Amino acid sequence: MLDGLDPEQRAVATAFQGPVCVLAGAGTGKTRAITHRVAYGVRAGIMQPASVLAVTFTNRAAGEMRGRLRQLGAGGVQARTFHSAALRQLQFFWPKAVGGELPRIVDRKAQLVAEAAARCRLRLDRNELREVTGEIEWAKVTQTVPGDYAAVIAKSARETARDAAETAQVYAMYEQLKRDRSVIDFEDVLLLTVAILQDRHDIADQVRRQYQHFVVDEYQDVSPLQQRLLELWVGERETLCVVGDASQTIYSFTGATPEHLINFRTRHPNATVVKLVRDYRSTPQVVHLANGLLAQARGRAAEHRLELVSQRAKGPEPVCTEYGDEPAEAEGTARRIRDLVAAGVPAGEIAVLFRINAQSAIYEQALADAGVPYQLRGAERFFERQEVREAGAALRGAARFGGNDALLDGMVELPQQVRAVLSAKGWTDQPPAGSGPVRDRWESLAALVRLAEDFSGARPEATLADLVAELDERAAAQHAPTVQGVTLASLHAAKGLEWDAVFLVGLAEGTMPITYAKTDEQIEEERRLLYVGVTRARVHLSLSWALSRAPGGRASRRATRFLQGLRPGATRAAWTAASGAAGSVELGTATARAAEEPAPRRRDRRPARCRVCGRTLTEAGEMKLMRCEDCPSDMDEGLYERLHAWREVQARELGQPAYCVFTDKTLVAIAETVPGDERALSAISGVVRRKLTRFGPDVLAICAGEDRSGGGGDG
Ligand code: ATP
Ligand code: MG
Repeated sequence: MLDGLDPEQRAVATAFQGPVCVLAGAGTGKTRAITHRVAYGVRAGIMQPASVLAVTFTNRAAGEMRGRLRQLGAGGVQARTFHSAALRQLQFFWPKAVGGELPRIVDRKAQLVAEAAARCRLRLDRNELREVTGEIEWAKVTQTVPGDYAAVIAKSARETARDAAETAQVYAMYEQLKRDRSVIDFEDVLLLTVAILQDRHDIADQVRRQYQHFVVDEYQDVSPLQQRLLELWVGERETLCVVGDASQTIYSFTGATPEHLINFRTRHPNATVVKLVRDYRSTPQVVHLANGLLAQARGRAAEHRLELVSQRAKGPEPVCTEYGDEPAEAEGTARRIRDLVAAGVPAGEIAVLFRINAQSAIYEQALADAGVPYQLRGAERFFERQEVREAGAALRGAARFGGNDALLDGMVELPQQVRAVLSAKGWTDQPPAGSGPVRDRWESLAALVRLAEDFSGARPEATLADLVAELDERAAAQHAPTVQGVTLASLHAAKGLEWDAVFLVGLAEGTMPITYAKTDEQIEEERRLLYVGVTRARVHLSLSWALSRAPGGRASRRATRFLQGLRPGATRAAWTAASGAAGSVELGTATARAAEEPAPRRRDRRPARCRVCGRTLTEAGEMKLMRCEDCPSDMDEGLYERLHAWREVQARELGQPAYCVFTDKTLVAIAETVPGDERALSAISGVVRRKLTRFGPDVLAICAGEDRSGGGGDG
């Protein structure tokens, strides 16, 4: 069993005298080492399976650990989250400690907070309610009682939108209401377990007799409340092994802190401290970028960084790609994923990771369009999210009763109607302050508003009912059951996991770091989040960002500051949502500045209609063709052949694939429309300004019957 470990990992697995602390970087085998420690201890007869408690960060990680332990012959070991281990103990000891049954866990916490606020004569809108709820949760995991809350906030760097005294008042009333109604919340599960273990020595002894050995994974993200519980479980004993990486602390916004990991030696002077630096997960190319990111990190966690050394064979360089706009980024990413799958990388070994869950929608769509199966991890699918379903229902209702409403009677533009309907669901023009679920929900609604804007941009005559039909169609397309698909996950949900290919998307300032990260500490946490993302990749790593949100928008964005000086061979893709696979320019060197040329602008938006039957087109592919896929083509075959031959020559001269000149679909559209002037040519999807300047004269000449297949684009 120990054969599969290196000497340091073996030390972790076999040091049973005294506490053990493993401080090590991503992919160095921390999780592997503690799993082997438990399995080895059990097989060697040092630990009884039932006496071991392995604590990990998520239910999924706990499940995975149970599976690995079973494989190593150590089934029967408890692998749980702090929360599930505490709940189990609380249920068991409640009758003895308090009497009766454990109170019910409140399922609609926000409603109770709203009631508490009302009793304090405060009217909170949905966003304020979520914000206050988040603050109460934070206060509880940091063991801050209502009476201390205002003072603690005044001292901390925590940014809050509300007056702390008011929040404290609601917090106190909320606690009172719970007591009156005999219910508890999620945080109470830990708080009550701690209280019982503290007060009842007999019960604490009983728990300690049961659990004698402890391992904790991802220890850098332990909250003060979880730490207190751990101390109570372990007691005076030294049978504790913790592993973590301070550089991967990504939950400090919820009250977690790496100090417990960093100071482990201070609290346990006789601890064995093991450092692992061999990275078994990623290629030297990925590790180089990860080390580069950490080298620029500042602050407490960064003082403890360790330089990783890859143990794997060389792999491809990470690829940085700058796109003109977000849809182009999503399309480009989906296309690369399709190529990887075609080249033999299983879809289940590929992940797209983003900063906030609302970013997933556009990738869900792009992957669905590309026919690539996917699954969302750590978040519900966009159209299954509660706020999105509620918003959909509200829009449907508004569309149904639209006839009686002047607002919806064509007097007001579609996006404005949507904003009006969604404002009743918590949509505001400006995003709410801070992060967390409030912000995530706002982002979901913002994504719907943007969808409405884009939809009405493409179809100015569209009504609210059309939009609802479009939403239904999209939802249906994405609900198709999938197996073994590409993982779509937030960077937070990707912690501890690994894939052969990882796409880190949306790496523009404002998203990475996220706008609401303001203090130095918050910025550093964002950098660590990117480090977590980079270190999920085994072989293929792609980093991308878009210069503007929508096609034709102002190219006002910049690549994330965190990649400054680190960008490996940057590629500038001039793809736009309309042109599909148009051009990409290899810049090739680490110093290449990718943003020199502005993103291509899209022509004015008119509803795209089929040239043959006149139907309004909504599918990207059909818009490129300028007709329905199944409407008959009236293409001039000879012209298509000449354009095709000309494209081959151009591509060869430029040293680029043919589709970088024009895609097949664009060539077909040109051969079908036979443009007579620049204006007509530029109306064809895929003929962006840069291409018009470069190839326009040739293409128009060929359309006019001249033979230009000998080449000679005049630039
Ligand atoms: P993270 O910080 O991301 O949680 P980690 O330190 O927990 O990473 P693991 O997930 O345990 O790292 O290991 C990373 C990968 O390296 C896994 O695929 C694991 O199987 C492999 N690995 C770890 N140690 C070894 C080893 N000694 N020999 C071969 N492969 C190893
Ligand atoms: Mg791990």
